[in-house]
Amino acid sequence: MSTLRFHAVIESLNRKPIKIKESKRRSEVFGSNVFNEAAMRQYLTKTALKSVMEAIDKGSKIDRLVADHISTGMKEWAISKGATHYTHWFQPLTGATAEKHDAFFETIGDGLAIEKFGGGQLVQQEPDASSFPNGGIRNTFEARGYTAWDPTSPAFIYGTTLCIPTVFVAYTGEALDYKTPLLRALQAVDNAAVSVCKYFDKNVKKVNASLGWEQEYFLIDSTLAASRPDIMLTGRTLLGHSPAKGQQLDDHYFGTIPNRAMAYMRDLENECMLLGIPVKTRHNEVAPNQFELAPIFEEANLAVDHNSLLMDVMQKVAARHNFKVLMHEKPFAGVNGSGKHNNWSLSTDTGVNLLSPGKTPMSNLQFLTFFINTIKAVQTHEELLRAAIASASNDHRLGANEAPPAIISVFIGAQLTKVLQELETVTKGKLSPKEKTDLKLNVVGKIPEILLDNTDRNRTSPFAFTGNKFEFRAVGSTANCANPMTVLNTIVAKQLIDFKAEVDQLIDKKEMKKDDAIFNVLREYIKTSKAILFEGNGYSEEWEKEAKKRGLSNNKTTPEALKVKVSKSSVALFEDLGVMNKVESEARYEIEMEEYILHIQIESRVIGDIARNHVVPTAVRYQNILIDNVTGLKSIYGDGFKTYAKEQLSLIEQISQHIEAINSLVTKMTEARKTYNNETDLEQKANGYCKKVKPLFEEIRYHCDKLELTIDDELWPLTKYRELLFTK
Ligand code: ADP
Ligand code: MG
Repeated sequence: MSTLRFHAVIESLNRKPIKIKESKRRSEVFGSNVFNEAAMRQYLTKTALKSVMEAIDKGSKIDRLVADHISTGMKEWAISKGATHYTHWFQPLTGATAEKHDAFFETIGDGLAIEKFGGGQLVQQEPDASSFPNGGIRNTFEARGYTAWDPTSPAFIYGTTLCIPTVFVAYTGEALDYKTPLLRALQAVDNAAVSVCKYFDKNVKKVNASLGWEQEYFLIDSTLAASRPDIMLTGRTLLGHSPAKGQQLDDHYFGTIPNRAMAYMRDLENECMLLGIPVKTRHNEVAPNQFELAPIFEEANLAVDHNSLLMDVMQKVAARHNFKVLMHEKPFAGVNGSGKHNNWSLSTDTGVNLLSPGKTPMSNLQFLTFFINTIKAVQTHEELLRAAIASASNDHRLGANEAPPAIISVFIGAQLTKVLQELETVTKGKLSPKEKTDLKLNVVGKIPEILLDNTDRNRTSPFAFTGNKFEFRAVGSTANCANPMTVLNTIVAKQLIDFKAEVDQLIDKKEMKKDDAIFNVLREYIKTSKAILFEGNGYSEEWEKEAKKRGLSNNKTTPEALKVKVSKSSVALFEDLGVMNKVESEARYEIEMEEYILHIQIESRVIGDIARNHVVPTAVRYQNILIDNVTGLKSIYGDGFKTYAKEQLSLIEQISQHIEAINSLVTKMTEARKTYNNETDLEQKANGYCKKVKPLFEEIRYHCDKLELTIDDELWPLTKYRELLFTK
């Protein structure tokens, strides 16, 4: 009997929900482990507080002397909360978060010790950068890396450690992390959007990008997960036959949350409250044991940090509840996968959401300006957006096994489609007073403040307008949101800069009125952005054909998708906007390609091991039982045994065929790996892994899954889908 599997099943069936401590109202504990404005008021001098606030609002530099004051206050606050260590918390290009803990504790001779944390330690640290991916940046420049404090994301205490959000850069200035380019992109979109806002409101001084992510995940009993080498090593199941009951009945979605999962969620939400992560919504997702967690949206940089932190906290809290969180985009074949919708908008320091229709024609013209410019930006740079969400694990969604497809398109809903159609007919050049009044009253003025038909109807669109924000749905559940957010904000910034230039030119050279100029430019954008607008079902063959005709890219695999990151025009775009220089763009391309290769390589080794060391030996054992049975029948019935042993004989043959197929496919896969491991060209290597190694997974799996159906359940060593998915 396969002891581990049955041990795991019994253990998981006996589990009870863990009791959790919950005392205070959530609003009372919210942010109590964050060095936020309230904490700063208590622990910082007036000068120090002012300096931090200015750094947050205006990006101004913090003086070294002031930094000493800040670090002292921060340390006192942290110690009062029970912290003993501090760390510079950053997001290297591995996608995970990184930290190295140092104690506040320092000896001062004579056997005495004090708690110390100086301005220098707050502002800058030097982690051993050599073990983080750098895509050749340091080889080229022989630079060391350092982490530098990002005051726009507040320090927080997790466990007994004060965590200071930082950027991670090489001494030569190149970013070695995800946060640095994001901060630069946010700066770019701020500048560009403020300039455009001035057409409508001179008082606007700052525009913030906002992000509200929705994190989907699976919750699997930890012992069951531990019984599957594929889950432990790759985060997903590489084989396993579909259970008799899957998600067909749709009985999980928005259903009652199971008790153990509920206890986990409450515990997790408590942790989030302490850390100032404003989580608000939780519900069951479509698949069994799949859930979603969403916060109230925040300024994009903070939201990105909060999502990275959350992913870490989710695993830690899960361990207390004997769960493992599967963040993977497709942990189970044939079952709905997980994504991370990125809800995005722009809002002004005067409190206006620029993607929310307003009350007056003027505010609606502003809304339309940002709305149409975003569409145009996506139209122009759809391939870059696709690249921003490319990863080995997200390739399983994106059209491979489910919506959204790998083709980027924008859904805007019927009402706004109509508005765009009307704006498209605006007269070229100067508008007559009648036309202008008509437009303002009957087109722009008629956009309802709440766009009801734009709720969530089209679930297959990768980029949908949902009433007062765009929802980038193609982002993967394991992704660091910084990557897609950097690209989205950069392309919108670029588009707004171009828009401003075009409008100004019409005003200056053609002596048009401002509104006339805006209408004229928007009209042209509507005409040239049509290809990207799509209201239908994105997960269909017709759309693939149609999209091809429209000239939209359909990069189904990561190696194909990433290429555009190092195209001349992309490199120039990021360089022009000051988001990434050429070296940084190239480094990210290299790192992501390498990560892709490693990912497939590990999966390939794991599936090879499981197939050969778990599946085949089990098949042989079962085959021997059948052979014994046939031998026995023969000894009883003599020559007539075949009448009674017909099925057994056929099973024996089938098993042999599957064993043979598995062995030859695994050998073929190993050979393919060897070939491409020797390949020195990165693109060739990634393509080899993509086209020659990965397709064999499906073939090997096919035979293993057939054996799972054939072999005595008692003997099968791998915890089955029904056990993984339906154990509550
Ligand atoms: P759903 O998409 O599940 O129907 P909602 O549309 O209400 O739910 O909101 C989904 C997410 O969108 C939430 O995380 C919310 O914080 C976020 N969101 C709402 N408004 C904005 C905005 N202006 N900018 C960014 N995110 C937003
Ligand atoms: Mg949503």
